[in-house]
Amino acid sequence: MHIETTAIHAGQEIDPATGAVIPPIYLTTTFERAPDGSFPHGYIYTRNGNPNRTMLETCLAALEGGAECAAFGSGLAAAMSIFQALRPGDHVIAPDDAYHGVTRLLREIMAPWGLEYTRVDMRDPQHVRLAMRPNTRLVWIETPSNPLLKIADIAAIATIAHAGSARCVVDNTWATPIQQRPLELGADLVLHATTKYLGGHSDVLGGAVVFRASDAFSERVRFLQANGGAVPSPFDCWLVLRGIQTLAYRVRAHAAHAMQVARFLAVHPRIERVHYPGLTTHPGHAVAARQMHGFGGMLSIEVKGGEPAAMAVAANVKIITRATSLGGIESLIEHRASVEGPESSTPPSLLRISVGLEHPDDLIADLAQALE
Ligand code: PLP
Repeated sequence: MHIETTAIHAGQEIDPATGAVIPPIYLTTTFERAPDGSFPHGYIYTRNGNPNRTMLETCLAALEGGAECAAFGSGLAAAMSIFQALRPGDHVIAPDDAYHGVTRLLREIMAPWGLEYTRVDMRDPQHVRLAMRPNTRLVWIETPSNPLLKIADIAAIATIAHAGSARCVVDNTWATPIQQRPLELGADLVLHATTKYLGGHSDVLGGAVVFRASDAFSERVRFLQANGGAVPSPFDCWLVLRGIQTLAYRVRAHAAHAMQVARFLAVHPRIERVHYPGLTTHPGHAVAARQMHGFGGMLSIEVKGGEPAAMAVAANVKIITRATSLGGIESLIEHRASVEGPESSTPPSLLRISVGLEHPDDLIADLAQALE
């Protein structure tokens, strides 16, 4: 089945009780027990499971080609559960450029809990090989990375992880299963902030972990999901699933628009650098072209003149909105260094752009006037 069809049908059957074509939202926290004490429909309590969550998890597992999926209340809650499924004393290899919230989670919550970690530049898989230790249990990849759009070779790094005794997880939030399928490339787990392209309309927070196999690790993450309690509400699940139905069409348009915007900016005299893997000049272009189906809707630019010049561009846009987050229908621009705080290594001249579904000519005209 093609991914467009999976997005519209996986987990989304006609409601058996009423024939409703679009699934109802099961706003209930609890489910009736039969006189014999059993739960005939398989549900007990919504923290443990809810029909809307099952539909979303079934669809996400199908989209990524995984055995199962666990949905969470945010991308970071999903990341946290993966780390918590490890043990104190275990070692994680993480990228030097990644969503700063994941880095902060490792530094400020998981390291005091006892997790060891090393950050490396994953553009060269050798850096991962050199960082492997006997206690390395997880290699965390984010490609394209946030905000520098570094590209990591998933197949090469997964092979290195498996040569030790580590699982390989890919944060696939930016590429989405439409443009990158990490499990097919050898990864064991896929993480999503469903808040972004999967939800797609900047109106719901969510996260998910998709597992290549149902095993002791997936069971542990599911235990943390049900008993840690960072679960999405039935309405959250319904909204994300609704977003997924148009994912393929949105993501391809986001990527096409991003390519046009990147090409415009790449030759603009006030722009120092454009970070977009779709440009043939991008150092990760060849790997991205091999492992991705398109190059995503995110790009970053470095403006000549440093932070004040970057801030001025952000101040002058009229259609593009100054706001954090990404992956929604509307274009957003953000000065990342100031949002990431004092630990940030992001260049102060950098602006990150989530290229939306407005007409690309209007976005280019907006950037052109902001750069005047
Ligand atoms: N992963 C990536 C790549 C992200 O960009 C983000 C958020 O920006 C997250 C994870 C975290 O997601 P959430 O904000 O839903 O916790």
